Amino acid sequence: MMSKITGQKMNNKKLSYLKVISLNCILLVSLFVGCIEQEQKSGDMKETTPEVQLDQPSILPDWVDGEYHDHYGTMQTLNDFNDKFPDLVDVFSIGKSVLGKDIWCIRITNEKNNRDKYSCLIDGCIHGNEWEAGEACLYLADFLLINFDNNETVENILNTSEIYIVPLFNPDARQSDERWNHNGIDLNRNFDVHFGRLRSNNFPLGKLFGIIKIPVIRHPLRNTVSTNCGRYAFSEPETRASRDLMKSLDRYSFYVNCHTAVHVFAAQGDITYKPEFTVTNHEREITNIAIDWVNDNTEYPGIHGEDFKHTGIGCASDWVYSEFGIASFIFELLNLDYEPWYGHGRHYSLVHWMKTTLPVFMYLLVNIENLHDWKTPDIQPPLPEDVPPPSLK
Ligand SMILES: [Zn+2]
Repeated sequence: MMSKITGQKMNNKKLSYLKVISLNCILLVSLFVGCIEQEQKSGDMKETTPEVQLDQPSILPDWVDGEYHDHYGTMQTLNDFNDKFPDLVDVFSIGKSVLGKDIWCIRITNEKNNRDKYSCLIDGCIHGNEWEAGEACLYLADFLLINFDNNETVENILNTSEIYIVPLFNPDARQSDERWNHNGIDLNRNFDVHFGRLRSNNFPLGKLFGIIKIPVIRHPLRNTVSTNCGRYAFSEPETRASRDLMKSLDRYSFYVNCHTAVHVFAAQGDITYKPEFTVTNHEREITNIAIDWVNDNTEYPGIHGEDFKHTGIGCASDWVYSEFGIASFIFELLNLDYEPWYGHGRHYSLVHWMKTTLPVFMYLLVNIENLHDWKTPDIQPPLPEDVPPPSLK
């Protein structure tokens, strides 16, 4: 069980001049780069034709549109889970952010069942302005906990799996509604895979003189934007905390790195600079089956790894594959029609978006053993009524 979260008081600091500058930069940059700078843009909403069966009774979390969870709200919610479900929940800090906020993790499993279990990690808000990515993590935790007693599928999942969830990878930026961490570093460029390649629009500068944040550099002639990925891989406390958590997991089966708002579900790309870590044909086939399932059963277009032309070097999902050799996914919630500002400034229809994520997570969870063993993930996840929901508009 559990370690208790202690409360912190929010600082009401005025935004500094530099913060204003960097916020403006982010707004400008967000017009030109998605959170994964991929060439693939989301297509039109496709029609959802769910093939999954219903599993009644199952309960959906009692969430209300407009009620988002910032760092402190997330802490409170995790605390509440811990109080209500002490035999299913362990809450602990995996490390501190630049400003000293705890990065909270919730592990969900049936603690009364001592068998060897598979583990997975789902995290959100590596980019702090992508609120719904963190909300989806909390929603999944809520769904699993409230259904454990009355839903055989959920009971089986928690008897066989340890589900690690980090809702707010980047808590400082969630509070300031910024993409970067407090040092101005894009944490999803700070992992040790293809790190800091200039030609991939990264610059490994770090914080200039230890003081000045330079999150992005625009090249006016080339009309491109480069991202500050930190001085060296794992230079940032948040990425080190995530790395250390992952290295501690047993029978680690899959990883999902949640973002907004490009509206795709994608597998890790090929790691071309390390031939030994290039995804094998068999692994690619298994991953593509998972991608195709999401494509066919949810509103999210699936992007095969080999088609995933992103320049986001230093990304968490690619590092996870290169380090652990496991299936690793990027889940981009929302869509560009709905959120043209890549998650900036327009947060609504929270409950709808949360419902869109459940089929994806449940499919991966019921197939956790298949994914761990690189076998065909062909188990259908039973889902509640109205999940997935009809597409908006
Ligand atoms: Zn992102």
